[in-house]
Amino acid sequence: MNKLEELKKIIDSLNNFAIVSHTSPDGDSMGSILSLYNLLIDLNKNVDVFVEGQAPYKFSYLSGFYNIKNISQSNSRYDCLFVLDCGDEDRLGECKDLLNRTDIIINIDHHITNNSFGNINIIDAKASSVGEILFELYKNLNYKITKEIAECLYTSIVSDTGGFKFSNTSSKTMRIVADLIDTGINFTNIYYRIMDLKTLNGIKLISKVTSTLKIYLDGKVATMKLTKQMLEECQTKEDEAGELVNIVRDIESVEVGILIKEVDIDTYKISFRSKDYFDVKDIALKYGGGGHIKAAGCTIKNKSIDEIEKELIDEIKKAWVKYNEWNN
Ligand code: 5GP
Ligand code: MN
Ligand code: MN
Repeated sequence: MNKLEELKKIIDSLNNFAIVSHTSPDGDSMGSILSLYNLLIDLNKNVDVFVEGQAPYKFSYLSGFYNIKNISQSNSRYDCLFVLDCGDEDRLGECKDLLNRTDIIINIDHHITNNSFGNINIIDAKASSVGEILFELYKNLNYKITKEIAECLYTSIVSDTGGFKFSNTSSKTMRIVADLIDTGINFTNIYYRIMDLKTLNGIKLISKVTSTLKIYLDGKVATMKLTKQMLEECQTKEDEAGELVNIVRDIESVEVGILIKEVDIDTYKISFRSKDYFDVKDIALKYGGGGHIKAAGCTIKNKSIDEIEKELIDEIKKAWVKYNEWNN
């Protein structure tokens, strides 16, 4: 039996499903989990969909958003757990416990660093987003892609392609998007919400974060910092300010942009972005993180924000020396 047939058999024969994605869910996570939630509900299955902490309100327009559960709201067992857009078990945070409460784990992802932790692993590192992988699976399994499901998949694809401009966008991506648009979704509204919309407090946060900008390696590398105090002062959440790390990457001279974000006492989440050629995933992997060549992340604990910044710049300098040796 190939993976598609196995998947079909599982969906047809089982009844109790759970769906989850990585911590701090982004547009691909939210769109993927809710597309599958809507699909399984349409098939009359029992489904619980989980997010760690609070689901980002930015995605409240997606059907099923208000049915998302917190892990503390359930101790059920499931026949099958779908883990979407998540490279490894630890990226599930508090939701990791779901792995012990299911008979089958299906891991569907597009991270090249995925460690294949599922019983069935469907990993396509060429796909722009998990939304793109799911679209193909739904089509191949002859499931109906309703307008609600199309809104979710469109959200996934727009989010992970940065509005169809990153190099992970392919002609196939655009053909899928064309099919999604044909279901009658309000694609201009969704695009605007994901790519452009910010709150007033989000704009105030952008001003604070950009004031921390530092430039290294003749302008090729730049960092910005986001502290919990800034969020409190602006009474905002990070997602109200859009993708802050993109601001650093988009500076003309910059190849590598870094956002260092305080998430807890002595705990920092790092976001890396590169513009054209630098492999930021390799830096993230050194700290137990992962991701893609041009977008990666990790968490660093028990160091000060300044120590972390210095260390990361040193790592990047070393990697740059190697890169130059290989390419000259
Ligand atoms: P972001 O900077 O938006 O949080 O993440 C960029 C990319 O790297 C995303 O594809 C995300 O899933 C991945 N990523 C971020 N942090 C981690 C991490 O700690 N571990 C792994 N494996 N991947 C991460
Ligand atoms: Mn993601
Ligand atoms: Mn993704």
